[in-house]
Amino acid sequence: MILCNSKISVTFVRQCSTILTSPHTGIIQNRCSLTTRVPNWISSSLNCVQPTYQRTMNSPGQRESRDSTGTPSGGSSIGSSGGATPPFQHPHCDRTAMYAQPVRKLSTKGGSYDYDLIVIGGGSAGLACAKEAVLNGARVACLDYVKPTPTLGTKWGVGGTCVNVGCIPKKLMHQASLLGEAVHEAAAYGWNVNEKIKPDWNKLVQSVQNHIKSVNWVTRVDLRDKKVEYINGLGSFVDSHTLLAKLKSGERTITAQTFVIAVGGRPRYPDIPGAVEYGITSDDLFSLDREPGKTLVVGAGYIGLECAGFLKGLGYEPTVMVRSIVLRGFDQQMAELVAASMEERGIPFLRKSVPLSVQKQDDGKLLVKYKNVETDEEAEDVFDTVLWAIGRKGLVDDLNLPNAGVTVQKDKIPVDSQEATNVANIYAVGDIIYGKPELTPVAVLAGRLLARRLYGGATQRMDYNDVATTVFTPLEYACVGLSEEEAVKQYGADEIEVFHGYYKPTEFFIPQKSVRYCYLKAVAERHGDQRVYGLHYIGPVAGEVIQGFAAALKSGLTINTLINTVGIHPTTAEEFTRLAITKRSGLDPTPASCCS
Ligand code: FAD
Ligand code: NAP
Repeated sequence: MILCNSKISVTFVRQCSTILTSPHTGIIQNRCSLTTRVPNWISSSLNCVQPTYQRTMNSPGQRESRDSTGTPSGGSSIGSSGGATPPFQHPHCDRTAMYAQPVRKLSTKGGSYDYDLIVIGGGSAGLACAKEAVLNGARVACLDYVKPTPTLGTKWGVGGTCVNVGCIPKKLMHQASLLGEAVHEAAAYGWNVNEKIKPDWNKLVQSVQNHIKSVNWVTRVDLRDKKVEYINGLGSFVDSHTLLAKLKSGERTITAQTFVIAVGGRPRYPDIPGAVEYGITSDDLFSLDREPGKTLVVGAGYIGLECAGFLKGLGYEPTVMVRSIVLRGFDQQMAELVAASMEERGIPFLRKSVPLSVQKQDDGKLLVKYKNVETDEEAEDVFDTVLWAIGRKGLVDDLNLPNAGVTVQKDKIPVDSQEATNVANIYAVGDIIYGKPELTPVAVLAGRLLARRLYGGATQRMDYNDVATTVFTPLEYACVGLSEEEAVKQYGADEIEVFHGYYKPTEFFIPQKSVRYCYLKAVAERHGDQRVYGLHYIGPVAGEVIQGFAAALKSGLTINTLINTVGIHPTTAEEFTRLAITKRSGLDPTPASCCS
């Protein structure tokens, strides 16, 4: 019923320059003097509707005007870097090699296929690719299908991991946890916060799920509006040009000249007794219909630390089980500071440990047996919830890839610098590709650039180097570029200079928050221009701080430029402009003064 009205609603949203919603009634008011009643969960999203991407869609006629290589003759170069010239050549990125491969051209077989392009997977990568392909004149279908989780049978709508069970619900729960902390701080700032505050888990879950549903709805409408045919079906290859879609109502065979595989991944379960029966994953957590309580979080990667962080902030009792190191792949000095900051907040870390079994007791609680991997010593504890955060598996199994001849490497798909698989007309983007960062903005940009190369005559390729990222732990950690150990590995310790410092966020003083782990560093070339190889920051709003510096680093930032940039005072980001002490000097990196 909602979708029947969707066209009207979206047209309405686009036509109105100002949209105001009441959080209680869901009444939308606008300058067009229209008032439309929509469900609350829709209104929450409409508030955030972005301006439409202004781009003229090629007419079907234009599609026919491709040259003999399949490239549209008057092709748009939007998104193109203007040919095969690599952008700024950063010393630790092999961009020349990346651009050495010519862009693959496809021969067009006219109307002999149902679609020009079938995208398998309606997540961040697939949707971006499908929409951009249509904008460039292609006939596109996008399949998306979510299998229920094995423990609780959790399912969700179109949009993929990020929207439904990833970045978005995670960030909202992180924010809920930060707000709880902020209320305590508010008392120190003079607010009368008399009552002991306590979160309502069910209300939080409901609010988060309402937002997700609204995004699902807007996504469906957007696909329809942009003329991407959305097929809610599980795709598997019959051959390299034919796909079988398993739908609720039966099966459908469809063909395409080109395929993009964007099926992403799902959480892994450990191979131990009780893991699947009693443990949950991030796929279940954000819609859990009971309070998580005392929770064992197994895994110390992004997901493990982030979930443990917000659970603690919401008043529950998480314990993190670490098999080897914390945040593998990240700068280990920073990773250990993040772990220490979580321990300081009362989150225990069970180091060098792996789970052995999970048993359900008569009282419903979960008995977890585990062992220390170094001493083999066994121990056990009882939890309300066991959360597996031990990495994600690429969803290659359902695709029947051997039928298409596509090669797989460790449940991922290897691709070249153009996201091309070993099969001429099949590409892959997003989390499913082998050896690249599993992040939403990476998936989106790679998908969009691929579509522009396939249908818009563009040549720009995805640059997977120097991707900035944030770990949303209670004290956040964001970075871009090389870790200190990676810089040392690539250039040698004698050629690296590390500028570092602890700092005290102004707003931490009044509530007397711990500043012990507020730390940042710039890893740079020691001689010459002192080019910056990596920036690392632990502190408030880390992602917001690093995002702009990421553009600077990609543009060839040097230490000289950094320290001659005038800071914005009083912020924590300005600390990057105040970096003066090198690790090599051995001087004390703790700050002596605030404003001079
Ligand atoms: P997905 O979004 O997983 O989409 C793939 C879609 O294809 C899914 O809907 C899947 O069900 C469907 N599918 C699979 N097989 C088939 C088939 N055979 N037929 C049809 N459909 C199929 N990244 C960030 O940048 N920032 C964050 O803060 C962040 N937080 C995260 C938090 C969590 C808890 C998790 C799990 C991930 C997080 N990520 C974050 C990572 C981010 O979510 C992923 O990198 C991103 O969603 C990958 O997009 P994708 O399109 O490749 O895959
Ligand atoms: P991850 O970062 O790969 O971490 C997996 C963790 O589980 C590691 O600590 C690993 O330990 C441990 N582990 C693996 N197998 C185990 C086993 N059998 N028993 C015990 N521990 C085990 O994976 P993730 O945290 O699940 O995240 C998946 C991806 O999602 C990430 O790579 C990231 O790109 C993306 N993501 C991004 C964000 C963000 O941008 N903020 C947030 C969440 C997720 P070892 O080190 O010993 O292998």
